[in-house]
Amino acid sequence: MSRAAILPRKAGARTPQIGRYGVTAVAAGLLSLSSGGLLLAQNPEEVEVRVTHVAGTVHMLEGAGGNVGVSAGPDGVLLVDDQFDWMADKIRAAIAKLGSDKPRFVLNTHWHGDHTGGNASFAANGTLIAHRRVRERLAEGLRRDSGRETPPAPPEALPVISFDESLTVHFNGETIVALHFPHSHTDGDSVIYFEQANVVHMGDLFFSGRFPFIDLESGGSVEGLIHAVESVLARIPADAKLIPGHGPLSKPSDLEAYHEMLISTSALVRQQIASGKSLEEIQQLGLGERWQSWSWQFIDEQRFIETLYRGLAGQPFPAGSYKQH
Ligand SMILES: [Zn+2]
Repeated sequence: MSRAAILPRKAGARTPQIGRYGVTAVAAGLLSLSSGGLLLAQNPEEVEVRVTHVAGTVHMLEGAGGNVGVSAGPDGVLLVDDQFDWMADKIRAAIAKLGSDKPRFVLNTHWHGDHTGGNASFAANGTLIAHRRVRERLAEGLRRDSGRETPPAPPEALPVISFDESLTVHFNGETIVALHFPHSHTDGDSVIYFEQANVVHMGDLFFSGRFPFIDLESGGSVEGLIHAVESVLARIPADAKLIPGHGPLSKPSDLEAYHEMLISTSALVRQQIASGKSLEEIQQLGLGERWQSWSWQFIDEQRFIETLYRGLAGQPFPAGSYKQH
């Protein structure tokens, strides 16, 4: 499939500058590990939705859980992701000010509950769209090795339109393209391109300025995530705006810094595995001073090392199974 027309890179426009965000204070102090290994806020009534105009019809909402992308215009409202079920009313209040509290479409970037929790609520007046694996995983639920369990989602929370490779929504004058990247953060992740606005919603392929959660138990892969990030970097212009799954509104230079972190830390851990070190020994050695600021409440250095170790010590997916777009 040729996608060369999407956001062609401007030759020479990319600068190798390393942008660095510290961990932001969005919902700081409210986050904890949930039973699903996802993000939960402990004081829902205190969470406020912050709305940022990104470009053209596109806005970004920050509340609790994954960042929400919004296209608002003459055709109505389209959402990319919808946080937790208990955030639905707050999201509704925020998008009402942008034109409508009833989104016509909700695109899910992946199946995690901090991105799909509002599905059942918004499905009453709109159409849910996602990759096939998002629908399948929501329907199945998951019991993790730790014993933590995510129950199957109710039928009304399941996408009614699913796709395998890519899907395009023509809405508000935007060409909104969802592209699937298997075996990255999970096996059902899509990146959403708003072509006219030059905005990309990265879903959880991008935790800006912080260590990512890579869900190996949902088909995620360290190598696959790196491939996906490289694939996105190869096609976006230097002036694109990036909505990360978690973290502040970002630039391609921030995605490059994130890529460099992934490459550098995974090379280090791979080297230590090859030299025979155990997970505990690698955790004691740490990743070095350079990446200290990438630790945050959800994924600290120790947990990220464990993910890298488990992801790199095994080879769960054959070479060539990562899709390049
Ligand atoms: Zn996620």
